[in-house]
Amino acid sequence: VALRMDDTLRRAVLLYPDVESIVEGERRWTYRKFQDEVHQLAHAMKRLGVEKGDRVAVLSPNTAAMLQLFYACFQLGAVVVPLNTRLLAHDYLYIIEHAEAKLFFADDELIPLVESVIPSFTTVTQLVSMPVDGLVSEREGWVAYPDLLAKESTEPCIHEIEETDLATILYTSGTTGKPKGVMHSHRTLYFNMQNTMFHLRAADSDVLLHTLPIFHVNGWGTPFSFTGVGAKHIMLRKIDPALIHSLMQREGVTVACMAPTVLNMLINEPRFREEKTTGPMRVVIAGSAPPTAFVRTVEQQLGWEFLQVYGMTECAPLITVSPIKHHLAQESEEGRFRLKAKAGIPMHNVEIRVVDDEDNDVPKDGHSIGEVIARGNMVMEGYWKQPEATAAAIVNGWYHTGDMATIDAEGYIDIVDRKKDIIISGGENISSIEVEGLLYEHPEVLEAAVISVPHEKWGEVPHAIVVPRPGAELTEAVLESFCRGKMAAFKCPKGFTFVSELPKTASGKIRKVELRQPFWEEKG
Ligand code: ATP
Ligand code: MG
Repeated sequence: VALRMDDTLRRAVLLYPDVESIVEGERRWTYRKFQDEVHQLAHAMKRLGVEKGDRVAVLSPNTAAMLQLFYACFQLGAVVVPLNTRLLAHDYLYIIEHAEAKLFFADDELIPLVESVIPSFTTVTQLVSMPVDGLVSEREGWVAYPDLLAKESTEPCIHEIEETDLATILYTSGTTGKPKGVMHSHRTLYFNMQNTMFHLRAADSDVLLHTLPIFHVNGWGTPFSFTGVGAKHIMLRKIDPALIHSLMQREGVTVACMAPTVLNMLINEPRFREEKTTGPMRVVIAGSAPPTAFVRTVEQQLGWEFLQVYGMTECAPLITVSPIKHHLAQESEEGRFRLKAKAGIPMHNVEIRVVDDEDNDVPKDGHSIGEVIARGNMVMEGYWKQPEATAAAIVNGWYHTGDMATIDAEGYIDIVDRKKDIIISGGENISSIEVEGLLYEHPEVLEAAVISVPHEKWGEVPHAIVVPRPGAELTEAVLESFCRGKMAAFKCPKGFTFVSELPKTASGKIRKVELRQPFWEEKG
């Protein structure tokens, strides 16, 4: 049997036809109703000329309609191209033209973001506006999603496909440069979906809160895994801590995936500080290196189990996992709290190596540093229309992550930093993540990013950009003495800048490239 991403929905309908599948604001769908609308959408798309392999772009926050579009594309063998909602008009034009999208779906509220470039689309043959709370405004040149579905049959509409056919092109976060189109097939996605089901212990009793955008790969594994077991999805248009709190209580949320920046917002929100109980919430999954101080606060303040994962768009996304509660170590000599391993061990059927520049494995001693490379069914098919970038990233089947890590005798990977974010000071490698972890332990630090800045004597030195907590009176001297003695002197930031906000990507990652720029420009 060919693995295909839409079969999970069909199984859920057979097993749990009348179970609630989606909640979006005041609107609710059972699995049967959800699938009926997916079939209607697939018929409509077919009528609009969508064939196997055609690209369909979508710009939307997390909504039921967006998830339906994903499934309709899977059923037709079409390739869904979800767009990041935080881009600018010219970025949308670039991606839509680059992907040569045939249809363009946009959430009614987000249409103004793209309006100016729509006349320049050369491949799109139909624009479809998607509902906000069930409503769509009349717009010239657009067909409304509910009208598109209205006259269609709810009979199955499924094309035959191969498991290696493309299911999506996901444009990367662009944390380090221009977004690249990562191609995933039904097989690579299926593989990650099954691993996610297993490691999150997904069950029909689960209620999944979509706190990560599903246009981004980090939000991808979970929707499909939890659909497969008949769980309930709670859609969320935007991150609002008070709303998250009330949804958790009202709907009985059990699982959520969150970027560290979102977790940080929650643990600082008065409701989450005062009312300790957030219902049956059992596990939060977080990638992108949450500072140790968060992990401790989340587990102690909120009582949620923390599942640390590591992955990237190119690997669909997850490659390692670590249930942190089993790996809390004693306070270290300096009185600091340490985790045994941040990123964890490889997921099933994922092979990982940590290698030096000559492709030799670094010693498995927990402190030698090398690049993480990974092999397995989850590795992307390549970058869309970028064969050179693909050849540089995948060598003999091994995907080169660009992340530096250590590996210990048991195979635990600890991410040190991105190759590009490591600070090389007087010949020493400094992990920006490690220094940030220390700053986050200061009670008045809300957010921190550590970057390299040029230095006459050392080449580069660490510099910290800090967002103080509201009302805090942080100074350079305070933070300097806080760091002193807790970390080797060469690792301590040599300067501090205080700001009210840090630039972030749509998935909540701090854009260090942007932070570094002014320091390096000044130098010329
Ligand atoms: P771009 O490739 O466009 O520059 P990006 O790499 O940020 O953007 P993603 O694929 O979303 O895009 O992010 C994957 C990266 O996030 C990883 O390569 C790694 O650097 C970082 N990351 C993910 N999980 C962890 C983790 N647990 N610990 C440390 N870093 C992590
Ligand atoms: Mg990347």
